[in-house]
Amino acid sequence: MWRIIIAFVLTIMVVVSASVVSIRLWAGKKEQLPEDISVIIDNDMTLAQFGQKYNLRRPTLKEIFNLTSQADLNKSVLDFGMNRQQISKKVNQVLTLQAEHASKNWIKIVLKGGLWIVFLIVVFFLFRKGKINTSNRKWIYAAAVIIFGIILGSDPSPMGTVKDALVLFGSKRLIFPPRLIAFFVFLLMVVLANKFICSWGCQLGTLQDLIFRFNRDSRDRNGLFGQVKIPFIISNSVRIIFFLALTIAAFLWAFDIVEPVDPFKIFKPQAISIVGGIFLGLILVASLFVYRPWCHFFCPFGLVGWLAEKISIFKIKVDYDKCISCQACSKACPSTVMDAILKRDKVVPDCFSCGNCIETCPAAAISFSSGKRQKPPQDKFAE
Ligand code: SF4
Ligand code: SF4
Repeated sequence: MWRIIIAFVLTIMVVVSASVVSIRLWAGKKEQLPEDISVIIDNDMTLAQFGQKYNLRRPTLKEIFNLTSQADLNKSVLDFGMNRQQISKKVNQVLTLQAEHASKNWIKIVLKGGLWIVFLIVVFFLFRKGKINTSNRKWIYAAAVIIFGIILGSDPSPMGTVKDALVLFGSKRLIFPPRLIAFFVFLLMVVLANKFICSWGCQLGTLQDLIFRFNRDSRDRNGLFGQVKIPFIISNSVRIIFFLALTIAAFLWAFDIVEPVDPFKIFKPQAISIVGGIFLGLILVASLFVYRPWCHFFCPFGLVGWLAEKISIFKIKVDYDKCISCQACSKACPSTVMDAILKRDKVVPDCFSCGNCIETCPAAAISFSSGKRQKPPQDKFAE
């Protein structure tokens, strides 16, 4: 037991302290949307005066009012085919997008994106060749946590692409194109290789998985201290309700319900509030006993990814001609995925491509391969 507690505490301490240092080195920018400014336009105000009053530079004015010449600056603000309300809305939209853009560390984003692709391709080939096993699984998770969490920070993350996009559109009816691109790239990764970005790339997902493995026996098959497989209907229902609450709060009150409790802030410790710290602590402790609690119960990308996973090209498949019905895979699976596959359930939970099932199968009947997943013969796993 002490081994688990020490590994857990040490990991959290290293992640938090190293993240503090990393943020200092990167001189992290604050990613916060600006408050809307209230725009007051006098009847005879020219565009030049308007720009001066609200500190809007020429390119910004050009974007808002579609200026065509220098002379436009001397026209009245109300001569551009927009009423006061429309101008105010447009000004705030343009300023928000500019702030979004300015708040990003683009070097870090491009570096992280590139490294994600390289890292996941390497893991994919190792996985396909059956080279991921108990002796190296934890190290790969640790490497992902160090590279994509500690060194490259909490943003961007797969979760952020869904959550931030929803909040921005809900509160300001705005789309930030780079985020949309990132979202589709992540989704493409899900479609190509069954949630591989969550499995091996997401900084928080891999941290939870690493912690979960601390509480497993030396063959990575059973929990040492009572691990629980929560029925998927429960975890997914909570996740759907949470997603709906996130959407409703964003659209009705322009409020981001994830922000105060965002567990990705473990990689941005200075931003953790008391409530967020308590929630984060609960998620991390729960990770010892439940497989990826944040992913299964709350993560918006987890939910979207689970839906997209249905059309994944590469996925876990069982060759029922080789299978000897021992169900060792189902027992070793940290979740209820393998059980659902073998029992022909209509709803198959999120598979995080961990490879426990492949490694455990005594008949080498399981593979991570392309093509349709066959259902087992009707009575093969009848109790
Ligand atoms: S589901 Fe888990 S692994 Fe995937 S984005 Fe969310 S936190 Fe990360
Ligand atoms: S089905 Fe296999 S790869 Fe998927 S989560 Fe279970 S053990 Fe891991």
